[in-house]
Amino acid sequence: MDAEQLREYGHKMVDFIADYYKTIENFPVLSQVEPGYLRNLLPDSAPNQPDSFQHVLDGEVAQLILEFIRLHIQAKILPGVTHWQSPNYFAYYPSNSSVAGFVGEMLSAGLNIVGFSWITSPAATELEMIVLDWLAKMLKLPEDFLSAGQGGGVIQGTASEAVLVVLLAARDKVLRRVGKDALEKLVVYASDQTHSSLQKACQIAGIHPENCRLLKATSSTNYALSPEFLSETISQDLTIGLIPFFLCATVGTTSSTAVDPLLSLGKIAKSNGMWFHVDAAYAGSACVCPEFRHYMDGVEEADSFNMNAHKWFLTNFDCSALWVK
Ligand code: PLP
Repeated sequence: MDAEQLREYGHKMVDFIADYYKTIENFPVLSQVEPGYLRNLLPDSAPNQPDSFQHVLDGEVAQLILEFIRLHIQAKILPGVTHWQSPNYFAYYPSNSSVAGFVGEMLSAGLNIVGFSWITSPAATELEMIVLDWLAKMLKLPEDFLSAGQGGGVIQGTASEAVLVVLLAARDKVLRRVGKDALEKLVVYASDQTHSSLQKACQIAGIHPENCRLLKATSSTNYALSPEFLSETISQDLTIGLIPFFLCATVGTTSSTAVDPLLSLGKIAKSNGMWFHVDAAYAGSACVCPEFRHYMDGVEEADSFNMNAHKWFLTNFDCSALWVK
């Protein structure tokens, strides 16, 4: 397509998205298709006949595209979409995106921004650092998390990736100190309300399953991790020669939005030389509001902090903000 065709078809695409939003509540929120539905609707291999090229030259592409959208997107794709933006959507966590969010995505896709190193798109890396500094300031994270010093923020795909990245960093840090043969002695702590992504990260990081301590949290603490219980468990582990190295606390657990007491947990982690990660994937967005910021009190003790912009921050999936000191 040349620039004028891009303008024309870009407008048509915007019209299509705008029409979709106009009628979004008419779709069943949960896709009604059966697994594998799409395989029956599409060819087995990608079409490779160049006959549409002539249509491009003939200026018939618009009709082809509209036909494509009508036939393929409406008939084959939309039935298989879960409509997260629907006002009737009440699953998992709030509908996450916004027009500003996806228009930004269009721009990013249109410019094909590749940000895997500075040189691949300097503006991307620099904007990422600047905006994550802005967000850190909105969340009133300690200065150590800003990019002016040794720390800083980086966008991960998901909170699951974020906890894996910091767990690997913490593992390698402790193994450099105690020797690489000590892997089987490393112990991770969190409450049993913690998101399952921590267990998945432990499996990937090679932490022995019996050394992943998910401590029971009860209604007596509003499902928060008890610092006393944590201390006792760490002491028991130390006496049998294990090495406590990673503590994950949550601000806003997925099932009940429980908030772990960051300050006292962080002090326990620090006195035992452990990495302290705070998972605020779900509720972190709310903490930009002054009246909710107190839920993060004690984050000064953390080595890393994560919140999902794609959960409650008007941002397209996937965008998870991770800060490391
Ligand atoms: N942590 C918490 C507290 C969550 O609520 C979730 C998802 O709901 C996650 C982690 C995992 O997030 P992601 O899907 O970005 O990996």
